[in-house]
Amino acid sequence: MSVITDGDLLAPALPRPLTFAAAQAAVMANKRGKGFNTTDVETEFGYLLEEIAELHRAWRQHRARRPSAARRALARLRIRPLSAPLASPGPVRDELADVLLFALGLAAMLGLDAGHAVETKIRINAQRAYRQLPNGTRVRHAGRPA
Ligand SMILES: [Mg+2]
Repeated sequence: MSVITDGDLLAPALPRPLTFAAAQAAVMANKRGKGFNTTDVETEFGYLLEEIAELHRAWRQHRARRPSAARRALARLRIRPLSAPLASPGPVRDELADVLLFALGLAAMLGLDAGHAVETKIRINAQRAYRQLPNGTRVRHAGRPA
């Protein structure tokens, strides 16, 4: 038996698969409906940073035990896969969603189409070339898109 809560009644109908545009509109509708900030960009950056910290804390608290060196070696050799990286995915999933939702709201407040921004950046990143420094760090090859 499913239970309908006030939250279910108030939740907007979202398309499946969810689009950036629909998610962005839902985030802003929720902010307006609950009287949250929709205009102060500086404040919204603060909230986004707070959510990133919450995500990091959730990951630290719910990550799986680091695999042994032998297990990592077996995974590198594709003999045995690593176990799941999270012991308890729920809290990390929820905090990741908070980060994404605040980013979507920030994009809306800035008048940006988040889906277009992500699509454009994926295309730019695909064009990028990287080189490896002697210490192993990979850096972007000069003269390529920013
Ligand atoms: Mg949070």
